[in-house]
Amino acid sequence: MLFVSDCFHCGASLRDGEQRICSACWNSVTPVRSGDHTLSVLQQRFSGSGTIDGLDAICYFEKGKLLQSIAHALKYQEVTSLGYALGCRLGEIVRYRTVDLIIPVPLNKRKERERGYNQSDWIGKGIADVTGWALRADIVRRRRYTVTQTHLNAQERLENIADAFEIVHPSSVTGRSVLIVDDIITTGATIQEVAAILRNAGASTVYVAAAGLAKLGEDG
Ligand SMILES: [Zn+2]
Repeated sequence: MLFVSDCFHCGASLRDGEQRICSACWNSVTPVRSGDHTLSVLQQRFSGSGTIDGLDAICYFEKGKLLQSIAHALKYQEVTSLGYALGCRLGEIVRYRTVDLIIPVPLNKRKERERGYNQSDWIGKGIADVTGWALRADIVRRRRYTVTQTHLNAQERLENIADAFEIVHPSSVTGRSVLIVDDIITTGATIQEVAAILRNAGASTVYVAAAGLAKLGEDG
């Protein structure tokens, strides 16, 4: 494996304990803070669904900023170590929770075949290594191909994603506290669908962790 000693984003030399991304670059992002408009809207949406107990994220997804270049790299190159670095950062943020199982949002099989990996699995692996919680990428899977959601609004996304997932081992989540992991949350429709099937399978608590949140407009 190649030893990478420079920051992915700015090229600065990394110091001990820094993985792929330097502290200065992490400090340049807009952190997600309680009371933020986007966070409040998502929290309301999630608690209103009755299936999600909490949401954590590192920062906002902004044009030209760190997370956009990471997301681009994750999509178009095989940069699994970046997903892992995001997971380590996110793990530090969510470790105050009590969680049994980390469950990455699965890509559909076609996309996973095209890319050869699921970036949420790598984010989950980073979280697992920081927290010691079990990573279970085998519990939830895509049932069918869903159309791309880019041009759909929140309601259309919920309809598009309905029944898109299934649980392979329902008994393994019964009575457990689970953490759903995604790379970037936009409307949260996908997350709500995954949360609903986990709750139906008897998960006692369902938390959500994402590397980034897409900023919502004032109209939500
Ligand atoms: Zn940097």
